[in-house]
Amino acid sequence: MTAPWRAAASQLPQVDDAVPGAGEARRPGQPIFPEVPLVRSNSRLPRCRPPRRPAGFTLVELLVVIGIIALLISILLPSLARAREEGNRVKCLSNIRQIGAAFLMYANENRHCIPFTSWNDGANLYREDWLWWQAIRSDRIEESSIQRYLQFKANALEMLRCPSDQFEVGRKPNAVVCGPYKFSYVINWWIASGATNAVGVAASYPDLKVAKKLTEVRMPSDKVMLYEEDASTIDDGMAVSWHPVNGPNLLATRHDRAKKESDSLLSGTYLPNPNLRGNAVYIDGHAEYVSRQMLHTKQATVPNAQ
Ligand SMILES: [Zn+2]
Repeated sequence: MTAPWRAAASQLPQVDDAVPGAGEARRPGQPIFPEVPLVRSNSRLPRCRPPRRPAGFTLVELLVVIGIIALLISILLPSLARAREEGNRVKCLSNIRQIGAAFLMYANENRHCIPFTSWNDGANLYREDWLWWQAIRSDRIEESSIQRYLQFKANALEMLRCPSDQFEVGRKPNAVVCGPYKFSYVINWWIASGATNAVGVAASYPDLKVAKKLTEVRMPSDKVMLYEEDASTIDDGMAVSWHPVNGPNLLATRHDRAKKESDSLLSGTYLPNPNLRGNAVYIDGHAEYVSRQMLHTKQATVPNAQ
Protein backbone atom coordinates (compact mmCIF):
# COMPACT_ATOMS: atom_id res chain seq x y z
CA MET A 1 0.00 0.00 0.00
CA THR A 2 1.23 3.32 -0.93
CA ALA A 3 1.76 5.71 1.87
CA PRO A 4 -0.80 8.52 1.86
CA TRP A 5 1.85 11.19 1.78
CA ARG A 6 3.39 9.69 -1.31
CA ALA A 7 0.04 9.61 -3.07
CA ALA A 8 -0.47 13.30 -2.31
CA ALA A 9 2.99 14.09 -3.57
CA SER A 10 2.35 12.30 -6.87
CA GLN A 11 -0.62 14.59 -7.54
CA LEU A 12 1.44 17.82 -7.23
CA PRO A 13 2.49 19.41 -10.49
CA GLN A 14 5.96 18.34 -11.52
CA VAL A 15 8.77 20.74 -12.32
CA ASP A 16 9.08 19.31 -15.80
CA ASP A 17 5.43 20.18 -16.49
CA ALA A 18 5.70 23.81 -15.30
CA VAL A 19 8.77 24.88 -17.28
CA PRO A 20 8.56 24.81 -21.05
CA GLY A 21 11.21 22.63 -22.43
CA ALA A 22 11.63 20.98 -19.14
CA GLY A 23 12.53 17.47 -19.35
CA GLU A 24 14.93 18.11 -22.23
CA ALA A 25 18.58 17.77 -21.52
CA ARG A 26 20.05 21.21 -20.58
CA ARG A 27 23.12 22.08 -22.44
CA PRO A 28 26.11 23.47 -20.61
CA GLY A 29 25.76 27.24 -20.18
CA GLN A 30 22.05 27.18 -21.00
CA PRO A 31 20.09 29.18 -18.42
CA ILE A 32 17.67 27.27 -16.36
CA PHE A 33 14.86 29.64 -17.15
CA PRO A 34 14.37 30.82 -20.70
CA GLU A 35 14.63 34.50 -21.35
CA VAL A 36 11.31 36.23 -21.47
CA PRO A 37 11.11 39.09 -23.99
CA LEU A 38 10.35 42.51 -22.51
CA VAL A 39 6.94 43.87 -23.39
CA ARG A 40 6.47 47.65 -23.19
CA SER A 41 3.49 48.84 -21.38
CA ASN A 42 1.44 51.60 -22.88
CA SER A 43 0.04 52.85 -19.62
CA ARG A 44 1.91 52.01 -16.50
CA LEU A 45 5.59 52.38 -17.29
CA PRO A 46 7.12 55.79 -18.15
CA ARG A 47 7.79 56.33 -21.83
CA CYS A 48 11.33 56.09 -23.05
CA ARG A 49 12.50 59.42 -24.53
CA PRO A 50 15.00 59.60 -27.37
CA PRO A 51 18.46 60.69 -26.24
CA ARG A 52 18.76 64.48 -26.08
CA ARG A 53 21.05 66.13 -28.70
CA PRO A 54 23.91 68.18 -27.40
CA ALA A 55 23.29 71.97 -27.54
CA GLY A 56 24.72 74.04 -30.49
CA PHE A 57 25.26 73.46 -34.20
CA THR A 58 27.10 70.74 -35.93
CA LEU A 59 30.10 71.64 -38.05
CA VAL A 60 28.14 71.13 -41.27
CA GLU A 61 25.33 73.40 -40.09
CA LEU A 62 27.84 76.09 -39.15
CA LEU A 63 29.54 75.87 -42.52
CA VAL A 64 26.21 76.18 -44.32
CA VAL A 65 25.25 79.26 -42.28
CA ILE A 66 28.66 80.86 -42.83
CA GLY A 67 28.38 80.18 -46.55
CA ILE A 68 24.95 81.81 -46.73
CA ILE A 69 26.18 84.86 -44.80
CA ALA A 70 29.21 85.19 -47.08
CA LEU A 71 26.95 85.00 -50.12
CA LEU A 72 24.64 87.71 -48.76
CA ILE A 73 27.59 89.95 -47.96
CA SER A 74 29.03 89.54 -51.44
CA ILE A 75 25.65 90.54 -52.88
CA LEU A 76 25.00 93.45 -50.53
CA LEU A 77 28.43 95.05 -50.25
CA PRO A 78 28.55 96.56 -53.75
CA SER A 79 25.05 97.96 -53.21
CA LEU A 80 26.05 99.46 -49.88
CA ALA A 81 29.20 100.97 -51.39
CA ARG A 82 27.16 102.49 -54.20
CA ALA A 83 24.63 103.91 -51.74
CA ARG A 84 27.38 105.43 -49.62
CA GLU A 85 29.06 106.97 -52.66
CA GLU A 86 25.75 108.36 -53.84
CA GLY A 87 25.32 109.99 -50.41
CA ASN A 88 28.81 111.48 -50.68
CA ARG A 89 28.06 112.80 -54.15
CA VAL A 90 24.95 114.57 -52.93
CA LYS A 91 26.85 116.05 -49.97
CA CYS A 92 29.59 117.19 -52.34
CA LEU A 93 27.03 118.81 -54.66
CA SER A 94 25.54 120.60 -51.66
CA ASN A 95 28.98 121.87 -50.64
CA ILE A 96 29.84 123.29 -54.04
CA ARG A 97 26.37 124.83 -54.41
CA GLN A 98 26.84 126.69 -51.12
CA ILE A 99 30.27 127.94 -52.15
CA GLY A 100 28.82 129.07 -55.47
CA ALA A 101 26.07 130.97 -53.63
CA ALA A 102 28.75 132.66 -51.52
CA PHE A 103 30.57 133.69 -54.72
CA LEU A 104 27.41 135.32 -56.05
CA MET A 105 26.81 137.15 -52.76
CA TYR A 106 30.39 138.36 -52.87
CA ALA A 107 29.87 139.59 -56.44
CA ASN A 108 26.71 141.44 -55.44
CA GLU A 109 28.71 143.38 -52.87
CA ASN A 110 31.78 143.91 -55.06
CA ARG A 111 30.59 145.46 -58.29
CA HIS A 112 29.87 142.09 -59.94
CA CYS A 113 33.40 140.77 -59.44
CA ILE A 114 33.79 137.27 -58.03
CA PRO A 115 36.76 136.52 -55.74
CA PHE A 116 40.36 136.09 -56.85
CA THR A 117 42.03 132.87 -57.91
CA SER A 118 43.81 131.72 -54.73
CA TRP A 119 46.57 130.19 -56.82
CA ASN A 120 49.85 128.78 -55.65
CA ASP A 121 52.13 131.75 -56.19
CA GLY A 122 53.27 132.57 -52.69
CA ALA A 123 54.55 135.97 -53.83
CA ASN A 124 51.12 137.12 -54.94
CA LEU A 125 48.62 136.68 -52.19
CA TYR A 126 45.56 138.91 -52.28
CA ARG A 127 42.90 139.86 -49.80
CA GLU A 128 40.36 139.05 -52.50
CA ASP A 129 41.52 135.42 -52.82
CA TRP A 130 38.50 133.22 -52.33
CA LEU A 131 40.34 130.84 -49.98
CA TRP A 132 43.36 131.56 -47.83
CA TRP A 133 44.66 128.01 -48.09
CA GLN A 134 48.40 128.51 -48.53
CA ALA A 135 50.64 127.16 -45.77
CA ILE A 136 51.98 130.60 -44.97
CA ARG A 137 48.49 131.79 -44.07
CA SER A 138 46.57 128.61 -43.38
CA ASP A 139 46.02 129.73 -39.79
CA ARG A 140 44.16 132.71 -41.23
CA ILE A 141 41.70 130.77 -43.37
CA GLU A 142 38.84 132.55 -41.63
CA GLU A 143 40.01 135.73 -43.42
CA SER A 144 39.08 134.20 -46.80
CA SER A 145 36.92 136.51 -48.88
CA ILE A 146 33.90 134.17 -48.82
CA GLN A 147 34.10 133.28 -45.13
CA ARG A 148 31.56 135.87 -44.04
CA TYR A 149 28.93 134.20 -46.24
CA LEU A 150 29.67 130.61 -45.22
CA GLN A 151 30.73 131.11 -41.60
CA PHE A 152 33.14 128.18 -41.66
CA LYS A 153 35.66 127.79 -38.87
CA ALA A 154 39.29 126.73 -39.06
CA ASN A 155 38.48 123.55 -37.16
CA ALA A 156 35.37 122.75 -39.22
CA LEU A 157 36.14 122.92 -42.92
CA GLU A 158 34.06 119.97 -44.19
CA MET A 159 32.12 122.36 -46.39
CA LEU A 160 35.26 122.95 -48.44
CA ARG A 161 36.03 119.27 -48.89
CA CYS A 162 34.43 116.51 -50.90
CA PRO A 163 33.57 113.65 -48.50
CA SER A 164 35.06 111.14 -50.98
CA ASP A 165 38.32 113.04 -51.44
CA GLN A 166 41.34 111.14 -50.09
CA PHE A 167 43.74 113.99 -49.62
CA GLU A 168 46.74 111.86 -48.81
CA VAL A 169 46.62 110.13 -52.21
CA GLY A 170 48.25 111.80 -55.19
CA ARG A 171 48.34 115.34 -53.85
CA LYS A 172 50.99 117.45 -55.50
CA PRO A 173 53.20 119.31 -53.06
CA ASN A 174 53.79 122.90 -54.03
CA ALA A 175 56.38 125.48 -53.13
CA VAL A 176 57.25 125.51 -49.45
CA VAL A 177 55.38 128.73 -48.92
CA CYS A 178 52.15 127.16 -50.21
CA GLY A 179 52.29 123.43 -49.48
CA PRO A 180 49.74 120.98 -50.89
CA TYR A 181 46.19 122.14 -51.49
CA LYS A 182 44.08 120.48 -48.81
CA PHE A 183 40.66 121.26 -50.26
CA SER A 184 38.59 119.83 -53.11
CA TYR A 185 37.06 122.73 -55.01
CA VAL A 186 38.64 125.16 -57.46
CA ILE A 187 37.54 128.27 -59.27
CA ASN A 188 37.42 128.36 -63.08
CA TRP A 189 40.47 130.46 -63.90
CA TRP A 190 38.78 132.05 -66.92
CA ILE A 191 36.10 133.52 -64.68
CA ALA A 192 38.16 134.47 -61.62
CA SER A 193 38.52 138.18 -61.08
CA GLY A 194 42.17 137.89 -60.16
CA ALA A 195 43.10 135.87 -63.23
CA THR A 196 45.88 137.39 -65.25
CA ASN A 197 47.72 136.37 -68.34
CA ALA A 198 50.31 134.66 -66.19
CA VAL A 199 48.90 131.30 -67.19
CA GLY A 200 49.81 132.22 -70.76
CA VAL A 201 46.53 131.45 -72.44
CA ALA A 202 44.79 134.74 -73.03
CA ALA A 203 48.06 136.46 -73.99
CA SER A 204 48.70 133.93 -76.73
CA TYR A 205 45.09 133.84 -77.88
CA PRO A 206 43.78 137.43 -77.72
CA ASP A 207 40.27 136.36 -78.74
CA LEU A 208 39.98 134.47 -75.45
CA LYS A 209 38.89 136.80 -72.72
CA VAL A 210 39.44 136.44 -68.99
CA ALA A 211 36.43 137.90 -67.20
CA LYS A 212 36.80 140.68 -64.69
CA LYS A 213 33.10 140.92 -63.90
CA LEU A 214 30.22 138.51 -64.01
CA THR A 215 28.45 140.92 -66.32
CA GLU A 216 31.10 140.13 -68.94
CA VAL A 217 30.17 136.47 -69.00
CA ARG A 218 27.95 135.39 -71.84
CA MET A 219 25.37 132.67 -71.29
CA PRO A 220 26.01 132.33 -67.55
CA SER A 221 23.97 129.15 -67.22
CA ASP A 222 26.52 127.42 -69.51
CA LYS A 223 29.68 128.75 -67.86
CA VAL A 224 31.35 126.86 -65.05
CA MET A 225 32.29 128.87 -61.96
CA LEU A 226 33.62 126.13 -59.63
CA TYR A 227 34.24 122.41 -59.84
CA GLU A 228 35.90 119.63 -57.89
CA GLU A 229 39.34 118.95 -59.33
CA ASP A 230 41.00 115.57 -59.71
CA ALA A 231 43.79 114.62 -57.30
CA SER A 232 46.17 114.07 -60.23
CA THR A 233 46.15 117.75 -61.24
CA ILE A 234 44.95 119.78 -58.27
CA ASP A 235 47.61 122.02 -56.76
CA ASP A 236 45.87 125.25 -55.77
CA GLY A 237 42.51 127.02 -55.57
CA MET A 238 42.09 127.60 -59.31
CA ALA A 239 41.98 125.48 -62.45
CA VAL A 240 42.51 126.05 -66.14
CA SER A 241 39.52 124.03 -67.14
CA TRP A 242 40.16 124.37 -70.85
CA HIS A 243 43.33 125.16 -72.78
CA PRO A 244 43.77 125.32 -76.55
CA VAL A 245 47.08 123.40 -76.43
CA ASN A 246 47.59 121.79 -73.07
CA GLY A 247 45.32 119.39 -71.23
CA PRO A 248 42.94 120.82 -68.65
CA ASN A 249 43.01 120.60 -64.88
CA LEU A 250 40.76 117.57 -64.71
CA LEU A 251 37.31 117.37 -63.23
CA ALA A 252 37.33 114.84 -60.36
CA THR A 253 35.27 111.75 -61.15
CA ARG A 254 35.60 110.01 -57.80
CA HIS A 255 31.82 109.65 -57.44
CA ASP A 256 31.57 107.86 -60.79
CA ARG A 257 32.74 104.28 -60.28
CA ALA A 258 32.79 103.26 -63.91
CA LYS A 259 36.37 104.39 -64.53
CA LYS A 260 37.78 102.80 -67.64
CA GLU A 261 41.26 104.21 -68.13
CA SER A 262 43.91 105.93 -66.08
CA ASP A 263 43.69 109.70 -65.69
CA SER A 264 47.45 109.79 -66.14
CA LEU A 265 46.79 109.39 -69.88
CA LEU A 266 46.07 113.13 -69.96
CA SER A 267 48.35 114.45 -72.68
CA GLY A 268 47.95 117.53 -74.86
CA THR A 269 44.26 118.07 -75.41
CA TYR A 270 43.45 114.36 -75.03
CA LEU A 271 40.83 113.91 -72.33
CA PRO A 272 40.83 110.62 -70.38
CA ASN A 273 37.51 109.16 -69.26
CA PRO A 274 35.47 111.83 -71.08
CA ASN A 275 32.09 110.36 -70.13
CA LEU A 276 32.72 110.22 -66.40
CA ARG A 277 31.15 112.90 -64.26
CA GLY A 278 31.86 115.17 -61.32
CA ASN A 279 30.27 118.10 -59.51
CA ALA A 280 30.35 121.69 -60.73
CA VAL A 281 28.45 124.92 -60.14
CA TYR A 282 27.69 127.44 -62.85
CA ILE A 283 27.66 131.23 -62.99
CA ASP A 284 23.88 131.36 -62.57
CA GLY A 285 24.23 129.42 -59.31
CA HIS A 286 22.90 126.01 -60.37
CA ALA A 287 24.95 122.94 -59.47
CA GLU A 288 25.24 119.93 -61.74
CA TYR A 289 26.77 116.46 -61.96
CA VAL A 290 28.45 117.00 -65.31
CA SER A 291 30.73 114.96 -67.58
CA ARG A 292 34.28 115.90 -68.41
CA GLN A 293 33.52 116.28 -72.08
CA MET A 294 30.79 118.79 -71.21
CA LEU A 295 32.91 120.78 -68.76
CA HIS A 296 36.34 120.86 -70.41
CA THR A 297 35.29 122.90 -73.41
CA LYS A 298 35.82 126.45 -74.51
CA GLN A 299 32.07 126.98 -74.55
CA ALA A 300 31.71 125.96 -70.89
CA THR A 301 34.64 127.89 -69.48
CA VAL A 302 35.73 130.92 -71.53
CA PRO A 303 33.56 133.95 -70.66
CA ASN A 304 33.11 135.36 -74.15
CA ALA A 305 32.63 132.00 -75.86
CA GLN A 306 29.20 131.14 -77.24
ZN1 LIG B 1 32.93 115.27 -54.67
